[in-house]
Amino acid sequence: LDLISQVEPRVAEAVRQELQDQRESLKLIASENYASPAVLAAMGNWLSDKYAEGTIGRRFYAGCRNVDTVEQIAADHATALFGAAHAYVQPHSGIDANLVAFWAVLAQRVEAPALARAQARHVNDLSDSDWEDLRRDLGNQRMLGMSLDAGGHLTHGFRPNISGKMFHQASYGTDPATGLLDYDQVRAQAREFRPLILIAGYSAYPRKINFRVMREIADEVGATLMVDMAHFAGLVAGKVFTGDYDPIPHAHIVTTTTHKTLRGPRGGMVLCQSELAEQVDRGCPMVLGGPLPHVMAAKAVALAEARTPDFARYAQAVVANAQALAEGLRRRNVTLVTGGTDNHLVLLDVSPFGLTGRQAEAALLDAGVVTNRNAIPRDPAGAWYTSGIRLGTPALTTRGLNQADMDRIAHLIHTVLAGTQPATTPDGKPSPAKYTLDAKVRDQVSEEAADL
Ligand code: PLP
Repeated sequence: LDLISQVEPRVAEAVRQELQDQRESLKLIASENYASPAVLAAMGNWLSDKYAEGTIGRRFYAGCRNVDTVEQIAADHATALFGAAHAYVQPHSGIDANLVAFWAVLAQRVEAPALARAQARHVNDLSDSDWEDLRRDLGNQRMLGMSLDAGGHLTHGFRPNISGKMFHQASYGTDPATGLLDYDQVRAQAREFRPLILIAGYSAYPRKINFRVMREIADEVGATLMVDMAHFAGLVAGKVFTGDYDPIPHAHIVTTTTHKTLRGPRGGMVLCQSELAEQVDRGCPMVLGGPLPHVMAAKAVALAEARTPDFARYAQAVVANAQALAEGLRRRNVTLVTGGTDNHLVLLDVSPFGLTGRQAEAALLDAGVVTNRNAIPRDPAGAWYTSGIRLGTPALTTRGLNQADMDRIAHLIHTVLAGTQPATTPDGKPSPAKYTLDAKVRDQVSEEAADL
C-alpha cells in the first residue's frame, strides 16, 4: 500500500477501506469469496505486462515462454480437477467464457459444415453468396436456457443481453408450486423449440440440477448441452456434486467463473469434450483479445488449491452452512424459494415483511450484512426492485464460520427484516426503495455482525 500511496494515495485509501469493510461486515453475496494470499500474489506481478495472443505454443507475440508455462499448468490442473478432456483458461470473465462457448458451438455446428459444403478451408475462401448464406445461418440459431426470474443468468438468452440478440431464444422456468425445475416441462419446450444450444446453470437457483436428464433432453432434440457452472464450480471441484449432478461427464461444453465457489481470481474458463477443443481454443482472437497472464497464473494457483483435501472439506462446509442458514431462517418463519437449499445459496422472499428486495438489501447493508436483491420466480416487483434477497455462504465459510454461526446470522437477518418499515414517497405513495430501519436494531446487529 505504501508504494501505491506514493503515486495515488486515494487508491491506496480505497484498498485499505475495502479491507476494513470486508472485515467489519458479513459478506453473504453468493457470488463472492476471499481468494487466498497465494492467489492474490500470483496476480500482482510482472506477468501482467505481457502480451500473448494465441494459444500455448502458438502465439502472435514473441517471448511468451513463461505465459505458456502458467497457462499450461492452469489447464492441466483444470482437466485433472474436473476430469475434463480439455480446458481453456483464457476467458477474462464468466461472460467471456460463455461467448467463447457460443462461438465454439456455432463454429462446430454451423460454420464447419458450411465450409465443408462449399469445399472451403476458411471463411475467406467462400464465395460472396456462400458467405451471405453462412452469416444468415449463424444469425438464425436457437438457444433455450433458464429464465432470469427462475434463477438463470443474463447470458443464457436474456433479450437485453448479447446472448438474446445472437440467438432466437426461449426460456424455461420452474414449477409454480414447488419452485423446482420441471424436467418434463423443459423436455416439452425443447421438443417444440428445437434449440441448437440447451443451457443449464444458474445464478440464483438454490437446488441441484440433474445433468444426466438435461443431456437426455439435449440428445433427443439434437441440441448441444452447455452447462454454465459459474456459481457451483467449487462444489463440483470439491466433489459435493457428483454423478448425475456433476456436469462434466454429461455436457458437451461447460463454462465457469473462477472467483465464486472456486475461490480463485476474477476470471472465466471453458471445459469441453475433445471434439470442441479446437473451436474453443480459437476464443482468442475470435472473441477475446490478449489473455491476462497474471490472472492465468492465479487461476493455476487456485486450481492447485482446489485439488487438495482441504478444499473438498471447504466445499462440504459451504453447503452444510447454507443448509444451516436456510434452516435458521425457516424456523423464524422466513419464506424461502423452494423451501431450502442443496447448494451454496439461499433465496428469501421478503414480501411477507412488506418489503421489496431493494429495501431489504439496503437495510441489511446498514446493519453490516452484505447481500444482494434478486428476483424470485414470477416476481411481482420486477427485476430492479425485486421481492427477493439472495444469500450465499462461500465467503463466510472461507473465514471459518460454522453452522452455529449461521443460526446467529439467520437471527440477525430476521431481526433486521422485522425491524424495517417501508416508507412512502413525498406525495404519500408507497416507495419501493425507501425504508426506515430502527436505529437500535441497526446498531445492535452491526455490532454482532462485526463480532462474528
Ligand atoms: N454465468 C453465471 C451463471 C453467473 O452467475 C455469472 C456472474 O454472475 C456469469 C456467468 C458472469 O460472470 P462474470 O461476472 O465473471 O462475467
